[in-house]
Amino acid sequence: MLSGFLQERENQMLTKGKDTFDLVGGKPSQAGAVSQRACVFCGSRVVLYPIADALHLVHGPIGCASYTWDIRGALSSGPELHRKSFSTDLREKHVVFGGEKQLFQTLDTLIDQYKPQAAFVYSTCIVGVIGDDVQSVCRQMEKKKNIPVIPVMSEGFQGTKKDGYKIACDAMATLIGTDDSKAVSPVSINILGDFNLAGELWILNGYYQKLGVQVLASVTGDGRVKDIRNAHRAALNVVQCSGSMLHLAKTMKERYGIPFMKVSYFGIEDMSDALYEVAKFFRDETIMEKARQLVKDELTRLLPALEPYRLALQDKKAAIYVGGAFKAISLVKALRLIGVKTVIAGTQTGNTEDYRLLKAICDDGCILVDDSNPVELSEFVKQTGANLFIGGVKERPIAYKLGIGFCDHNHERKLALAGYEGMINFAKEVYETVTSPVWRFT
Ligand code: SF4
Repeated sequence: MLSGFLQERENQMLTKGKDTFDLVGGKPSQAGAVSQRACVFCGSRVVLYPIADALHLVHGPIGCASYTWDIRGALSSGPELHRKSFSTDLREKHVVFGGEKQLFQTLDTLIDQYKPQAAFVYSTCIVGVIGDDVQSVCRQMEKKKNIPVIPVMSEGFQGTKKDGYKIACDAMATLIGTDDSKAVSPVSINILGDFNLAGELWILNGYYQKLGVQVLASVTGDGRVKDIRNAHRAALNVVQCSGSMLHLAKTMKERYGIPFMKVSYFGIEDMSDALYEVAKFFRDETIMEKARQLVKDELTRLLPALEPYRLALQDKKAAIYVGGAFKAISLVKALRLIGVKTVIAGTQTGNTEDYRLLKAICDDGCILVDDSNPVELSEFVKQTGANLFIGGVKERPIAYKLGIGFCDHNHERKLALAGYEGMINFAKEVYETVTSPVWRFT
């Protein structure tokens, strides 16, 4: 095992080719390890945030709302109510006397003012401690306003960020199946787990349109309440961010018999596989032929454009630390395509099976790590000599302090990285940051 780290974390990190045990994922964060993971509430908020015509009310102290206030890059083609993160701003008096009245009044005012299609009410730690009956207030408000008012019981202390994803899925499941008014094609899918960061969903919609496949609901990128209410009528659920949306896909399979498949839209290989798998599902040669043509056209354009980046990036080394394992797996493949070797691969929410898959596609010598922290990640970068860090807002300072390039692959990003367009953006971003002259001065 890797030495010099907390002993309690010994089965959460390994070196491929050296350690033979399975890396254990899904454990609660170790006290003292200063995890990079966010809380349960944050996990729920991330998943539901892109539903653009819903009201999102954080029932808790104002500080809980701060991290989630408009820092995500989830774009909307219409309403933008999601970008306002409302809070009940609980203070000491509410902790002593209860916050239900405050919640009721806040909802009453906001629903009148903003006229949302639905409201999500997020329960935070202190609400769980003082025991406000959030569900009862939501029921009363639902009757009063005649819109769905959905409690999201996401108190931060009750688990990991991944538990927050599950709670968000359960909240959405109460909406699904409550409307039948949308026109649905027999060749229809729901996209689960794309959050329309930097408009990525619109790229994917374009591909599916070319195939003749209707995207009935996008859950939750550029999301609309009405689409989600109708989502039970799609023929197939296509799940990208399986860490966050697999639970919803399984629930919909149980309740409505909708099959699901896991895909990834990052990198040429996985993007093409996703289109082929969807085409295969509908057993329609016309759709498959369109998929083949689309992939051929895109690759003819893309491969020559990637070549200069591949030549310039030969033998560069990358560290990956992202939310979910599926993204990490796609990144390893996408980096390989442009000549970059992955030397560190870690996630916040991967499980043991995910890490088996990740290990299988990494090269010998790659360090795999679950639920890491800045000390470990910095040390791994120094040991491996990585030239590039791919992560999110919390990993950016680690990279810059160590004087290496950084590529944002998290919810804050402003650059589309999915699909074929995304692959060229990714190569360009990696090239520009790794070869930046600024690193000579660090
Ligand atoms: S851990 Fe609790 S108090 Fe902290 S942000 Fe999450 S919900 Fe709020």
